[in-house]
Amino acid sequence: MSPPPSPPPQARLLLNSAALVANWQDFARAVGAAACGAAIKADGYGVGARETLVRLAAAGCRHFYVAHWHEVPPLLPLPDEVSLSVLHGISPEELPAALALPARPVLVTAAQAALWRQTGRPCEAMVDSGMNRLGLAPAETATALAGMEVAVLHSHLACADNRAHPQNEAQRACFAGVAAQVPAGAYALANSAGICLGPAYHLDLVRPGIGLFGGGLMPDGRVSRTVARMQARIIQLRDVPVGGSVGYAAAFTASRPTRIATVALGYADGYARGLSSLGWAEVDGVRCPAAGRISMDMASFDVTDARPLAEGDWLDIPFDPEAMASLCGRTSYELLVALGQRFDRVWA
Ligand SMILES: *Cc1c(COP(=O)(O)O)cnc(C)c1O
Repeated sequence: MSPPPSPPPQARLLLNSAALVANWQDFARAVGAAACGAAIKADGYGVGARETLVRLAAAGCRHFYVAHWHEVPPLLPLPDEVSLSVLHGISPEELPAALALPARPVLVTAAQAALWRQTGRPCEAMVDSGMNRLGLAPAETATALAGMEVAVLHSHLACADNRAHPQNEAQRACFAGVAAQVPAGAYALANSAGICLGPAYHLDLVRPGIGLFGGGLMPDGRVSRTVARMQARIIQLRDVPVGGSVGYAAAFTASRPTRIATVALGYADGYARGLSSLGWAEVDGVRCPAAGRISMDMASFDVTDARPLAEGDWLDIPFDPEAMASLCGRTSYELLVALGQRFDRVWA
């Protein structure tokens, strides 16, 4: 029996390999002799974890991080010499499956360390240097990991996106104190923003995430290169007379005869509802504002000023993560990881 046909998606993400790799290379250059890994949790910040891993591994990245063991199988097989690590550590329920996978946990509690110790395998571990979220307490770390092969000892910064915050230096100093007592193959502290704090935070290995995918600032102070662009098909075009309204809550009212294009893209796809009346489509450089509310599965744009369009045309919908996030009061992280599963993800 042949499989049922798969109808073509009506929305797509155009993904820019060169921008992704250039973002990673900027971080790698900035940290000099330190190794530059990549956090690709949450399906590579919504963009696609497997595709990201393959491209960054080809560029020289050797250390990848996800949050859950569940995220590991779709990333296999791993390229040669690539390590994959799981930031949440390991639970008893995950252990049997984890033992059959080519990844290692970043142990975050003494109980996890005791569990993993029985396997005799190498680990990584997270020290909580002041975030009070996940990780071994500084005072318990040496005992919890005694005799284990620790490939990387990590900590994570709470305030790295504010370079003036005193907690950055406090966490750095705390982690240096623990590192002096706990032998490990490498020491790692910095996420994307942590890398931008400078060499004192680079240690042996860094774990950038958001900056690879178009959010946040790069070490040279520029905004990260945008990796994803959105396109959606026009399902319907209509002419709305003066006084006519568009969409839920009649949030848009035509003040002139208005041409409305409704596309197959909504907040279920990650085009945030907060972009209602704020987002826009672009047609040959003409900005076509979102008309009223973004719906779950569609959005309407005022294309009155654009060149003539036809139903079935693809509409470009800009999605620069930082710009969109500040428009709608979210973060670039939230917008990226909300990118949905209905897109055709097209890498170039
Ligand atoms: C998500 C994560 C990162 C990456 O952080 P960004 O701010 O996206 O660069 C690094 N380290 C840990 C422990 C993380 O959980």
